Amino acid sequence: MRAKPATPILVAIALAFMSCGAAAEPSGRFALVSDVHFDPFDPEGIATVLATTDARDWAERFAALPPAPAAQYGKDTNHVLLFSAVEAIAAHAADADFAIVGGDLLAHDFEEDAAKALGVPVGSAAQLDFAERTTIFVADALGTALPGKPVIVALGNNDSDCGDYEIVPGGGYLAATRETVRRLAGSDLVAPDFDATYAAGGYYAVRHPTVPGALIVVLNDVLWSERYQNACGGDGLAAARAEMEWLAATLAAQKAAGGTVWLVHHIPWGIDGYATTHSKAETCPERVVPFLKDEFSEAFIGLVGDYAGIVSASFSGHMHFDDYRLLLDAAGTPVEADKVVPAISPIFGQNPGFQMFAYDAATGMPRDFATIGLANLPDLSPRPTGARTMCSRPPTACPPIRPGRSRPCGTASARAGGSTTPISAATMSAMAPSPRRASRPMPAPSPFSTGPPTPPVTAANRPPCWRDICM
Ligand SMILES: [Zn+2]
Repeated sequence: MRAKPATPILVAIALAFMSCGAAAEPSGRFALVSDVHFDPFDPEGIATVLATTDARDWAERFAALPPAPAAQYGKDTNHVLLFSAVEAIAAHAADADFAIVGGDLLAHDFEEDAAKALGVPVGSAAQLDFAERTTIFVADALGTALPGKPVIVALGNNDSDCGDYEIVPGGGYLAATRETVRRLAGSDLVAPDFDATYAAGGYYAVRHPTVPGALIVVLNDVLWSERYQNACGGDGLAAARAEMEWLAATLAAQKAAGGTVWLVHHIPWGIDGYATTHSKAETCPERVVPFLKDEFSEAFIGLVGDYAGIVSASFSGHMHFDDYRLLLDAAGTPVEADKVVPAISPIFGQNPGFQMFAYDAATGMPRDFATIGLANLPDLSPRPTGARTMCSRPPTACPPIRPGRSRPCGTASARAGGSTTPISAATMSAMAPSPRRASRPMPAPSPFSTGPPTPPVTAANRPPCWRDICM
């Protein structure tokens, strides 16, 4: 039985993402993954080995390490968690058409940790190279989950060799990662201006792998962020404006051609809920912190509103939990939805998760999605767990997603809460209640009660259990 939407927001979400009525079978699926924040400094000492190893050989180096626990809450993704996630994505996306990666491949504080681990200064060639090498490794690792299929990678605020929110337009990091991003997206699918736009600012367009006439527009909205600063040279503001002009031209060209657009960007629209709730400003209006600089927020939201008729879908990450944002017109009617995907990194206390979407391959409209979460992260802890309930099923036994399976529409988003952005976006004040943190531990799977005797469980043999949290 389907849940009946109780509020206009839920109605809008259902309309935006689901076919809640007479449903035709979905004809395509894709994986949406974000905020891996891979930590190549765990275990201690490995970074010096990796720094002189080709990124293609990193997996072998990690495989040769002794068994180790997965990164826990409060930490970024280590190699154990990364490979577990890749395995889970591969299992759930076996019949998917492609994957989208929403950015933030690198761990937090990457530059400082790299400098310390390698014994080199921040900004040294060795530190820059390590950021590039790690990005290539993580992107390729995600690519192995969908061999031979497009994996479309956006950049996040941590994806840089200079620092957080400090990507250098036209810089070495973009030059070094460009071929990997192109190859993963599909050299035959990327737009003719890929080389120029990726090198200039890490944004590009790629033909939709299955939907005729559709274009996936991958933005680097870090350049538009309130927190962006070009600390390592180049003209960040000019690059940010050039990206907006490119977006406007790309949308206009798609409309003229009768095509449609999917947007992929790291930072969602609207208000930075965390910064706003932690603001020390005196007055309420001053405490509201938008994600993007006013100039770019207005332009971006304006374009999305103007072209809402051809924008079939929009995806972002950055917030590390399952969320959505709605764009409202002047009358308060939702005209566009931005789906925010949860993170793989558990650093902020959330369970690692990714999402599987079903979509109409004729129109490109998303129809349904499921969130796959790592249900037993605490059980993968190095600490003795005593009688703690363990995940009793190997990952392959976790319930797969079945396209078209009956499930209440929009439940994942409805539970996570949501927010809206008015189309007259300078004010950006009509936000719905702040999203709740999704850090609540998921219910533990049932322990064996009637099966064979359970072997002694150690950190090395606990099976990770990625499961559809909507089951
Ligand atoms: Zn992140």
